[in-house]
Formats: sequence, structure tokens, C-alpha cells
Amino acid sequence: MARSPRKSKSPSGVPSGGLRVTPLGGLGEVGRNMTVFEYNGKLLIVDCGVLFPEEHQPGIDVILPDFTSLQGRWDDIVGIVLTHGHEDHIGGVPYLLKERPNIPLIGSQLTLAFITAKLTEHKITPVTVHVEAEDIHQSGPFELEFVAVNHSIPDALAVAIRTPAGLVLHTGDFKMDQFPLDGRITDLRHFARLGEEGVDLFLTDSTNAEVPGFTISERDLTPAIDQVFATAPKRIIVSSFASHVHRIQQVLDSAHAHGRKVAFVGRSMVKNMGIARELDYLNIPRGLVVDFKKLQSMPDNKITLICTGSQGEPMAALSRMANGTHQIKLGADDTVLMASSLIPGNENAIYGIINKFTDLGVQVVHKGNAKVHVSGHASAGELVYCYNIVQPTHVMPVHGESKHLHANAELAVKTGIAPERVLVVKDGTTVDLVNGKAAVSGQVEAGLVYVDGHTVGKVTEETLKERTSLQEGGAVTVVALVDADTNQLAEPLEFVTKGFIQDKVIFDGAAKKVSIALSKPSVSEIDDLDQLEQLIGDTVARHLDRAYRRAPVLTVVVIDA
Ligand SMILES: [Zn+2]
Repeated sequence: MARSPRKSKSPSGVPSGGLRVTPLGGLGEVGRNMTVFEYNGKLLIVDCGVLFPEEHQPGIDVILPDFTSLQGRWDDIVGIVLTHGHEDHIGGVPYLLKERPNIPLIGSQLTLAFITAKLTEHKITPVTVHVEAEDIHQSGPFELEFVAVNHSIPDALAVAIRTPAGLVLHTGDFKMDQFPLDGRITDLRHFARLGEEGVDLFLTDSTNAEVPGFTISERDLTPAIDQVFATAPKRIIVSSFASHVHRIQQVLDSAHAHGRKVAFVGRSMVKNMGIARELDYLNIPRGLVVDFKKLQSMPDNKITLICTGSQGEPMAALSRMANGTHQIKLGADDTVLMASSLIPGNENAIYGIINKFTDLGVQVVHKGNAKVHVSGHASAGELVYCYNIVQPTHVMPVHGESKHLHANAELAVKTGIAPERVLVVKDGTTVDLVNGKAAVSGQVEAGLVYVDGHTVGKVTEETLKERTSLQEGGAVTVVALVDADTNQLAEPLEFVTKGFIQDKVIFDGAAKKVSIALSKPSVSEIDDLDQLEQLIGDTVARHLDRAYRRAPVLTVVVIDA
């Protein structure tokens, strides 16, 4: 088979005239969305987001897509299309641009404003290409055509990618709210036009594929939000994603209608709402939003605070208010309105916050007890509509855990697309579109890349396992002073513990077992300290496990006496 003229780093080389599609994130998890398209030696990237860590990943700030397969290819990248401004679509861009800062970022006005603000914090001035729905933009060998889609952030775009290999349509994140606050609906007429042209490969958002029916409209939340403002006796604290401009607009409208003033709290909320207001995505009546300090001198029933932290992030304003470590102290008859989703993995943190507020006498209104949140993603009914309108030749579900991807695939098959033309793949799997036929062609590295403080990719699965073990069992260090000739203990063993009980009985028992182990005749022959450490470590570990069902992280230090 002919090869592309430029030597490819990918596993098998892209077939001549073929388009390779490689998801590097977002297929197998909700987050760190990123897909690479390769044609004739050139690369186009769609989105580059972060994934937020779960409880079994202690200490991790965010998780990035794996850029390994892009090493040595940085100059081949013609652009990064950003479908919308959510962190799980743009959060990885600063790390990508560290490799080559002048890769053009292609996106809508609000998306570019959000990413530019983020990059400024990383001291990067990006090259940006502003596009709008209906625009056609040539980026290297890729002809890009943008389609308006509706999502839980304004200005989201789907992107059609034309190459001689065929037409690909990538929905980005989307839903089909028929009555959106900004009147900008998902442009199904445009989807249909592309469908008429012939979509060879359709990449569709799977996040809500398991949810039957249709995602209700943002507008349907108005009564529940308004109810809070009509009845709350004292302060109202609203938590939301700092990017959810429409939800915050609804809150602002209710606050205004009920004669309250509003202050934004938290760096990302203040920053993003400033941008949204400046660019006219947020309509704020004069005098409604005031400085937080000014708000504090007002009566409680005139106060609304809008802050971040709806996912229970420990450092965000809401968590700190619940813990009493924020300058805003909440108490009886204050109301917290959590106008946001509950991202899987964050449940414990969120319930913890709700309980702490409840203990303080704070009323908590959340999606579990009122209709104050609606998803930003298309449910099964909407996805089926899209398949029927676009009638693609091949489908590749994106954005979701395995179960979401499979549920989405089933919907595609239900609409009549042959199962063998619905490609359920995971991060790193390469799919080649050649002569109108898409098929899996290989696999590239696509591991989880951990950002931990200022380090990127240094923390490994092994590190996390150790952290988890430390959390669960604490640490015990055994110091053994050993006679170099006989390998017998010169002094009693010393046990130093962190997060493990200091119990004489436990450690006397362990020390006795070690003495017995060392007294075996073969031990005097050991001349390797590592081997001796291993023997002592195994003996102590076995004792702690058998006698106490505990497995702390054990470190043995053997010192020659
Ligand atoms: Zn999104």
C-alpha cells in the first residue's frame, strides 16, 4: 500500500490519500477531550481539555491527554480548533502550546476570549483565528466549516472537516435546546446540508446517550430559580460553573426581579463574567452587580453571591464557606443554590458540603430537591434526530465513558447505520478514512498524564498507588542496626510511624518474628543489604497483615553496625 510522502510517526503510517483520526482523550472518560486529524503529513487538533481527578488520584490537579504521539510532529500541526470554552475542551491548551506557542487557535469569540485569558496567566500570547458559525476556513489541507450548536456555554461550534479523503463532522459538545436564552439553536438545517453532501464520518457527543428522551430547556429552570429568590429570607449564595453564562444570566434576572444585588465571588467567576459582560454575552442591568465589599453592608435579604465550587472542589469558595474558612460566614436561614450538575466522582465531596451547610442551618437547594439544573448534552432522542438528519456513512461516538460510547453506538445502529460502520474506540485508537471507508488501523500511546503542582507527567500510576496506600494504611519505617559479620540485630528494631498506630504490642510481635527470621543459619551468608531489607520487610509485613489486617507502606533501613 502507498504511504503518505511524509514519514509518519503513527503506528502503521497513514495510507496515501487517507485521513487518520486519533482521539487522545475523552473516549473512555468524561473530560480531557482531544482528537487529532492527520492528512498528507499535516495535523489538525480538535480541542485539548483537562480531566479532573477522582478520589483515587490524591494530590493531582488535573489530568492531560497524552501528547507522546505528537512528539517530533509539532511543526506539522496546522491549527487547534476549540469547539467551546469549557475546561475539558480548552484546559490542556497551555500545556500543548508550551511545545510550540504559535500553533493557531481557531474558535468563536467567547471561546477565544476564555482561552486567551487562561493563556495570559501562563504568559503565552496565542495566535488566534476568530471564526463564526457558517464560516469556512482553510487550515493546511483541512477545509473547516463551522456549525452553530447549543450547549451549556454560549458560542459553541461543531466543525466539519473536509479533505480529499472525505467529510467528517464533529459535533463538539452539544444539545438541542429549542428555546435557548440567546436564541442560538443547534443548526440542524446546516447539519442537513452536510448530510446531503455526504458525511463519511460523524463524531458525536455521547455524554448523555444513556438518558432517554430530550434534554429540557434552560428556560424550564426559571420557575425553580425564581422560587428561591421569591422565598429566601436572608442571603442567597449561588454556585455554578464559572463558564455557565446562561445559568448565571437566569440568576441575575431573578435577583433583579426580586430587588436583590449581586456580587461575583472567586477569581475564575469574576474573570469569566467580566469577559462575558464585555463581549455582550451577559446582559447585566445597571447597578445590579456590585463589588463584594459594598454588598456586605446591605441587608441580608438584598444580598446574592455567585461563586464557584459547585463540584465540591476543596479550594473553591463554596467548600470554604461550608468549612467556615471563607470570609463569608453562613448561618441560619441563608440559602445556598447549587445550580449545577453533579459530575460522577464528585458525589461524596458535594454531599459533604450539603451536610455541612445543613448543620449550619443553611437551606440548600440543589438538583436533588429542585429543578435547578439541566444538562448541557444531547439526550438519546436528540442524538437519534441527528443521525436521521445527517445519515452518516460511519459513526464514531466521542466524549464519554465506555458505557456512554456504547449507548451512543446503539442509538446510531437503531437508526439503520450498519453495526460494522459504527466504530466504538478508546483513547489512542487510530481510525483511517480511506476511499469513503473508515476502519480501525492501530493504537498510539494515550495514558493519563498527571499535573501535580508544577510537574507534568512525573507522577505515575505507581506514585498514586503509594499515595493511596499511605492514605489507607499509613507508613511504617523499620530501622535495623545489624552486625555486619553475623547479620544479627545489634540493637532492638526501631519502628517509626506516620498515620499508623504506635502500639508496643504490635511492634514487639513484629520484632520477635524478625529475630526468628534472622536466626536461620542461611541468613549469616547474606552479604547484600537489599536482600536483608527485603527479608525484614516481608517478615514485618506478614506479621502486620496476619495479626492486624493492616498493610502500611513499609520502608526498611538496614545499617551495618
Ligand atoms: Zn462542554
